[in-house]
Amino acid sequence: MAASMASQAAAKGLRIGTSKHILHDKLKCTWLNPRRWLNLQEYQSKKLMQESGVAVQRFYVADTASEALEAAKRLNAKEIVLKAQILAGGRGKGVFDSGLKGGVHLTKDPAVVGELANKMLGFNLITKQTPKDGVKVKMVMVAEALDITRETYFAILMDRAFNGPVMVGSPQGGMDIEEVAAKTPELIFKEAIDIFEGVQDDQALRMAANLGFRGPLQRQAAHQMKRLYDLFLKVDATQVEVNPLGETPEGQVVCFDAKINFDDNAEFRQKAVFAMNDMTESDPTELEAAKWDLKYIGMDGNIACFVNGAGLAMATCDIIDLYGGKPANFLDLGGGVKERQVYEAFKLLTADPKPLL
Ligand code: GDP
Ligand code: MN
Repeated sequence: MAASMASQAAAKGLRIGTSKHILHDKLKCTWLNPRRWLNLQEYQSKKLMQESGVAVQRFYVADTASEALEAAKRLNAKEIVLKAQILAGGRGKGVFDSGLKGGVHLTKDPAVVGELANKMLGFNLITKQTPKDGVKVKMVMVAEALDITRETYFAILMDRAFNGPVMVGSPQGGMDIEEVAAKTPELIFKEAIDIFEGVQDDQALRMAANLGFRGPLQRQAAHQMKRLYDLFLKVDATQVEVNPLGETPEGQVVCFDAKINFDDNAEFRQKAVFAMNDMTESDPTELEAAKWDLKYIGMDGNIACFVNGAGLAMATCDIIDLYGGKPANFLDLGGGVKERQVYEAFKLLTADPKPLL
């Protein structure tokens, strides 16, 4: 379990998408990139996708149950899907502290949408990827549900091993892609993209075939992959993850879920994207740390970590764990840290009553 503490920090604080874990599984490492923070809600990511010609369902968002009910009526759909909006994944299998099971619900009755939204909004949703108390749901997505005949997995991410973007896909999509990677790694397919050339037709078609799209669906899926790559470049993403990329009985290839991570170094030219940043789910200490360009992630233990560099910080967390201790935090001061930042970092650590320094 060498990577356990570091993975916990990654899952909790950075919420890097799952495909990075899949790709780096062989190396058994989880890397934390400095200054890569921005995460958007599913509905925000889907808006960006729509603008890039990616196929997503019709949807509205609501922050009250009555608005959700209105949205459901307005959609006038055969079936409706109601989805809690939080930054963590695994919502489908999550549980609310209201007792409601599942952060994703399908129903044919708009009235049920109102009732369900009532049990979602203002309550905490606990999933495999959230802290143990879950995350408060402030917004729900009300979308036209489509029948799904097959769920596949597709992602594009920047990867050091390939020195550029890579497409990752699997015919086994839906929930728990990590399990697919662990148990059946032969079902994970990769295509490295030459950033100067872009996604080639044969690459997209091969990926679509590997994902099990047949006949006209193969071309359609390949087209979606290329549109997703356009978006990836346009918004300076470090990752675009679609799980599931699904197939409908009517022969449509649709992105049913969306998770986009952005490169914070591009903030200066991605003003519109960064303006959507929702910091309300972030821990106040982590926000304070970010102000000083420090990476701080609170954890459950009682031994403070104060380290220069993310790699060393992860190794330190793991060593503490290996010797039976528990880190209270992950704090990466970074390379060119200045006196004032070190001072602020000590303030952050000493403000937490738990740790033994
Ligand atoms: P996650 O659990 O946070 O990854 O949320 P998803 O958006 O991926 O939804 C979870 C699961 O709900 C998906 O894998 C699908 O099986 C199901 N689902 C989501 N939207 C629809 C829909 O429009 N129609 C159907 N039939 N199932 C859906
Ligand atoms: Mn999903």
